[in-house]
Amino acid sequence: MKTNKGFDNLQHNYLFAEVAKRTQLHIAKYGDDKICRLGIGDVVQPLSPTVVLALEQASRQMGEVDTFKGYGEYSGYDFAKASLVDYYGCKGIDLDKGDVFVTDGAKSTLGLILDLFDKPCTVAIPNPVYPVYVDTNILNGNNIFYIDGNIQNNFLPQPPKTKVDIVYLCNPNNPTGNVYTRTQLQAWVDYALSNNSIILYDSAYEAFVAPKDECYASSIFQINGAKLCCIEIGSLSKTASFSGLRGGWIVISTTIRHNLNLLFNKLISFKTNGVSYLSQVALSATLSTQGMVHNYKNIKQYLDNAKILKGILTEKNIYNCGGVMSPYIWLQVPHNKSGWEFFDRLLKWGIVGTPGEGFGENGKGFFRLSSFANIDDIYIASQILYSNL
Ligand code: PLP
Repeated sequence: MKTNKGFDNLQHNYLFAEVAKRTQLHIAKYGDDKICRLGIGDVVQPLSPTVVLALEQASRQMGEVDTFKGYGEYSGYDFAKASLVDYYGCKGIDLDKGDVFVTDGAKSTLGLILDLFDKPCTVAIPNPVYPVYVDTNILNGNNIFYIDGNIQNNFLPQPPKTKVDIVYLCNPNNPTGNVYTRTQLQAWVDYALSNNSIILYDSAYEAFVAPKDECYASSIFQINGAKLCCIEIGSLSKTASFSGLRGGWIVISTTIRHNLNLLFNKLISFKTNGVSYLSQVALSATLSTQGMVHNYKNIKQYLDNAKILKGILTEKNIYNCGGVMSPYIWLQVPHNKSGWEFFDRLLKWGIVGTPGEGFGENGKGFFRLSSFANIDDIYIASQILYSNL
């Protein structure tokens, strides 16, 4: 027996373990109450009352013989798919229930989706990037072609000259917090159409995009031609605090090239047993008008937090991007120091962030601050940053 050789090729990323270790040491010395956690990109607000009520009712159904649910449809219950179709309808996107699949979140879907493609294939991945794209492709033995994000392109890389099979786009972006305009997204879709590529579009932060801003898109399907060449992967983790409950979706139009919708239907039928009824009820509740009112209240809070942090960096003349339509702010570490040196300095002051090194080569010398924090922590952190930077 041989194990997957890809494991040997993984770039061992100890960053998040190292962040936790250094933070723990600091806490052991100085106590927990002095730490403002702007590091991990996890939400701090709980599930909405709409979701909690729906979960209570669904749990009771599961405990009664007449309403108990066993295995469901692989692609999701009809009611959950109808909620997703409506959600996209509100964005002006016309989908059919056959175009959408309910998932248990974006990360597992990002791993699963690679089974659709021949191996090895050539994959364009932005750098810096959410590390999951890199690791899943290394495990699949694919050839990775990095596309540079840097200050010159404001960390919004444009389509390459060379042809690739698959492109990853994360918009709004983790870690840089930047958002492509519709015009820039159109350039990517045009690239995919003319190179026979497929775009895997991670929209985990789509709900942070201002719905009324005509310049920006909250779905790749607001871009002409996208249904033919794009797969959108959605998540409720950041939109609705589902990071612990789990819930998301994937859109693969029935009109996409290469019959990928049909192939995905086959794939989930032998690789999954669907998503729990409870998660799907919660998904449907949170996408309802009432559910979204609550979600937008939390999102607004995270965006207000980001604005405060960004304002300080800008006032201090520190290069930064993101923080508008995104919970992440990406900054250049002052005085040519490394991300780790900056991490240690901030930790001394009582703030935890994330060194850019963890997101790839081009993250060196940069740093990510997350606005997923309580307002009290944001005020304390902003006072510290203002006085010390
Ligand atoms: N995609 C991006 C860009 C993320 O930042 C994250 C989580 O941080 C995920 C996907 C994971 O989402 P989920 O919790 O739905 O698996």
